[in-house]
Amino acid sequence: MYASVQLLPHKTQSMERKHPWIFSGALKEMPKTVEDGEVVVVFDSRNNEIAKGHFQHGSIAVRILTFKNELIDQDFFNMRISNAVELRKKLHLFREDNSICRLVHGEGDEMPGLVIDYYGGVAVIQCHSLGMYLQIDLIKNALIHALGDDLIAVYNKSKETLPGRIPVEDGYLFGACDTPHIALENGVKYQLDWITGQKTGFFIDQRENRALLAKYAEGAKILNTFCYSGGFSLAALKEGAREVHSLDSSKKAIELTDANIELNNFKNHQSIVADAMNFIRETGEEYDIVILDPPAFAKHRDKRHQAVQGYKRLNAMAIQHIRPGGLLMTYSCSQVVDKQLFTNTIIAAAIESGRTVKILEQLHQPADHPINAFHPEGEYLKGLLLQII
Ligand code: SAH
Repeated sequence: MYASVQLLPHKTQSMERKHPWIFSGALKEMPKTVEDGEVVVVFDSRNNEIAKGHFQHGSIAVRILTFKNELIDQDFFNMRISNAVELRKKLHLFREDNSICRLVHGEGDEMPGLVIDYYGGVAVIQCHSLGMYLQIDLIKNALIHALGDDLIAVYNKSKETLPGRIPVEDGYLFGACDTPHIALENGVKYQLDWITGQKTGFFIDQRENRALLAKYAEGAKILNTFCYSGGFSLAALKEGAREVHSLDSSKKAIELTDANIELNNFKNHQSIVADAMNFIRETGEEYDIVILDPPAFAKHRDKRHQAVQGYKRLNAMAIQHIRPGGLLMTYSCSQVVDKQLFTNTIIAAAIESGRTVKILEQLHQPADHPINAFHPEGEYLKGLLLQII
């Protein structure tokens, strides 16, 4: 019932290591009659069935869904989504004071091409592959099956992630929910709007890092750059930060931050619409803690060098505004800049600043953004907490 593709004899190595992608160069031939998004069976050169996955004409030809002999049907998605939900429950992310988490993180949850974020009862789906999009009804049903009463609505937001392939309209697939909708992260209230917000509406991947900042926040004067909806600022104010400045170049982001500050009734906060680099270069302010969480400076390998230079400049400048004994919390979400390269870059910035710098914590994406051990490319967020003497 499924179409098939066959691997070249010497191209089975990555499959043996259970890597979830098959590149087009590993296939004996690109099938002409198979449509983008179809489920295909993958055979090795001796005609043994080894996997099933979503096919696409492109450099990644197949995204593997299973290495077992099973159908890709409702039961399959019920099982996968239930496993994903169970993991988040085990991580205690469904609590009275926490109702925001990532439910499905692509390859990390054995569902390449699928992201699902959860905001207090609302699941927001972003498909990054046509194959997942074509099975979105099965995915929606599986969410209803796994979440039961914990589900109010399912929203499809795949238009921006599947540009031009087929006509895709965003909208509710199940139930509906007015926006902004209020949900909680570690006791902080957020107004969420998946319809108009960036990505699915919120940067869930910084939850644990916000909690870490909160530990150091009491009495501190803090600069939170690239703040988007204010996550780090809110976590710090909740724990008694003395003064927080939130900065973003997007006016819309600052409006979101201001709305969240008001919603939580926090004081001692100032918003700044500005380019982070310009502000840090020109400001005369000094801070106890500075947070740098820029968007990915490099989306492709060929921009890596430029990105490294950007991180170095930004961090070296930020260090100059930190009081002796203060902290720098700095991140990169560029997948092509790995942990080692990022650390080396920050060390170079520290040398340039002329200050003594200690690494207190090495930071990363949280457990609801798991990394499939056979797909190291899934590691994207890294950071450092530094003390600047
Ligand atoms: N720290 C945020 C997420 C950051 S996303 C959180 O915890 O939710 C990156 C943000 O950087 C976006 O809001 C984007 O508007 C902002 N941004 C992009 N370029 C910028 C620049 N040059 N200066 C300041 N902000 C910028």
